[in-house]
Amino acid sequence: MISKFTDIGIPDDVAKAMDDMGWEEPTPIQVQSVPLGLKGIDMFAQAQTGTGKTGAYGSIILGRIPSKQKVPTAIVLVPTRELANQVSDELEKLSKYSGHVCLPIYGGASIEGQIKKLQKGCDIVAGTPGRVRDMIARGVLNLSEIQMMVLDEADRMLDMGFMEDMETIISLTPTTRQTLLYSATLSKEVRDIAKRSMREPVEVSVSHDNVV
Ligand code: AMP
Repeated sequence: MISKFTDIGIPDDVAKAMDDMGWEEPTPIQVQSVPLGLKGIDMFAQAQTGTGKTGAYGSIILGRIPSKQKVPTAIVLVPTRELANQVSDELEKLSKYSGHVCLPIYGGASIEGQIKKLQKGCDIVAGTPGRVRDMIARGVLNLSEIQMMVLDEADRMLDMGFMEDMETIISLTPTTRQTLLYSATLSKEVRDIAKRSMREPVEVSVSHDNVV
């Protein structure tokens, strides 16, 4: 079973965690996007929730960034608190053997607890744009070491009015970063964000029938 994941370039330790999670084979979005993402290519993918997109970009992040860093080297922006928790939980499970630490950052919950955890250090942040910006303004989140950025459910973030926060956050990360964008729909606004924040992105898409 593990070989089906390692065949598409997923590292052994991440494939082993997937096996523990009961996953038997990669989903279509994982097959299409993981090999490209692991090469460091910018990508925008049309994929809805339920297709295994978190596992897709999670594998790329874990395959490309070091673990046990003090300052985050990957950031995932998501539209809601629920998704921040969901993404962080899944990345923690996938990191069972690689040792990466992922923290959720979102509004509507005590900021002090999140600040304390951030100060202890982490490798990946999964956060909502408003709270991420707040953490940067308070000087507790430093994006200068970011190597990878994921915009998850980009269309929903735009619908929720996060455009300006997203643009500000993107501008605070190094231009050398790899950027991945996942969205259920690829509207003109989503394509515009991709054009402004990505370098020669490759486009991949999976149909609605591919929900796990
Ligand atoms: P997502 O599209 O990221 O919201 O994922 C939907 C659900 O599919 C989540 O519960 C994942 O844990 C699960 N999942 C992701 N990849 C796989 C896979 N290769 N095999 C089985 N389940 C998976």
